[in-house]
Amino acid sequence: MQDFPACTLVLAVELGGMKELHCPNCGALVSPAVASVKMITCTSCSTTLLLQDGGLRLAGRQGVLHDGPMLFGLGDTATIAGIDYHILGQARFSYERGSWDEFWATDTVGAAFWISVDEGDLILQRSLSRQDWPKYDGYLSLGSTLRHRDEEFTVAEQGDGTCTGLRGSFGHALSVGESYRFLNLQGEDGSVLSAEIEARQYEWFLGQWIDPFDVTVRRS
Ligand SMILES: [Zn+2]
Repeated sequence: MQDFPACTLVLAVELGGMKELHCPNCGALVSPAVASVKMITCTSCSTTLLLQDGGLRLAGRQGVLHDGPMLFGLGDTATIAGIDYHILGQARFSYERGSWDEFWATDTVGAAFWISVDEGDLILQRSLSRQDWPKYDGYLSLGSTLRHRDEEFTVAEQGDGTCTGLRGSFGHALSVGESYRFLNLQGEDGSVLSAEIEARQYEWFLGQWIDPFDVTVRRS
């Protein structure tokens, strides 16, 4: 069971008089922590729910997240370089070398971030709007380079990821079993660009490697 005590205040501030939402599957109270939540899992029956038109719609199952030791979890606040990130959602993906987690988080002004955790490797990144996407010619594969904001990036990793588990809240819909291709590009100055490609639809992210020792966690 997870709850979001740290975020109750955010809910009160951002959603004001938002009506109570109940899971259409089991009737449990469902409380999105911030207004930008588009998908949430029911803590009672493990169904994933889409927030649409002010109501909740059944989306699917949340899959299985086996808990190993993690740096942080749902409801925690992670402080990175002096900025607090509220951890609201956890999605797990499998790929050929194992699995990694993507934590959906918001900062104190409600901006959304993803913190990807693959064993000891942490990347803090945010989604790029279309006008900020990198521009390049041709097809990106391992070793390809591109320039983005005066930094040269090289494709360092590519593969296929499949979502195997979801828990908490997210800013867009995800579904267990969904697969996509990913590219990770390493910048010469330490930035990381990532692409998620699903049926020729791209989504680009820009971020930084984070040293786990620079992360302070306040448990919920
Ligand atoms: Zn439910």
